Amino acid sequence: MAESQPPDILRLPHGSAPVQWRRSSRARRVSLRIDPRSGSVVVTLPLRAGRRAGRALLMDQAEWVARRLAALPAAVPLEAGAFVPLHGIPHRIRHAPHERGGAWAEQGEIIVTGQSAFLARRVTDFLRAEARRSFQALVAQKLAAAGITRSCRITIKDTRSRWGSCAPNGSLAFSWRLVMAPPFVQDYVVAHEVAHLAHMNHGPKFWALVDLLTPHRTRAMAWLKKEGTGLLRVG
Ligand SMILES: [Zn+2]
Repeated sequence: MAESQPPDILRLPHGSAPVQWRRSSRARRVSLRIDPRSGSVVVTLPLRAGRRAGRALLMDQAEWVARRLAALPAAVPLEAGAFVPLHGIPHRIRHAPHERGGAWAEQGEIIVTGQSAFLARRVTDFLRAEARRSFQALVAQKLAAAGITRSCRITIKDTRSRWGSCAPNGSLAFSWRLVMAPPFVQDYVVAHEVAHLAHMNHGPKFWALVDLLTPHRTRAMAWLKKEGTGLLRVG
C-alpha cells in the first residue's frame, strides 16, 4: 500500500510534516488524518482533486497538524537496546547473533538471534506468536465462561484503528500489538469480542455479557484511549 512509500516532507508554517497522498474514489472532499504508525499526515484526495487542493488544506490546518504530530508518543524502533512492553512489562531487546533459536523472552529481555538485518522482523514474529498463544487461551476461557460451545477461528492482524473484531461468521481477529498491553486490557478486548459472538451489537445485553466476562471494562477502555497510540508507534 501507499503507506510503505517514503512520505513527502512538506514545509508548513509550524514545522515540516511527512505527508502521504491517497486517492479515493469514495472520498467526496479532501481530508486529513494523522497516521500514528508512520507519524505522518495522510491526505486523501477525491479523484478529481489535485495535490494543490491537499496542500491548501494542509496550510489551512498547519497548526492542528503540528499539534497532533507533536503529541504522538515517541516511535520505538525494534532494535537492540530498545524497550518493548510484553504483557505490559518493559522488555529490553538483546541481540544474541551467535545463539540459536529465533527469539524468546527471558527475565525482562527479548533475546533475538541471527543477523541484525532480521532483528526487527524476528521481534515482530515473536510478538505475533505470543499474541496468538495468549489470545487463543483467553478466548477459550471466555467462551467457556459465556457458555458458548462453538469453536472459533482466531486471526492475528496489524490493524490501525481496531484492537479486535468479530466477523459475522464468528471468527475473531486481534491486533498483535495488544500483546504489549497489560493483561487486564487484553482480558477486556477478548471479552468484548467473545461477547459479540452472542450479541452482534453494542446494546445493553452485550455490555452485560462483557461485564460478566471481565471486571476490567472501564479501566481497560481508559487505558486504550490514553496509551493505545503508543502501541502503534512500536516497530
Ligand atoms: Zn464491539
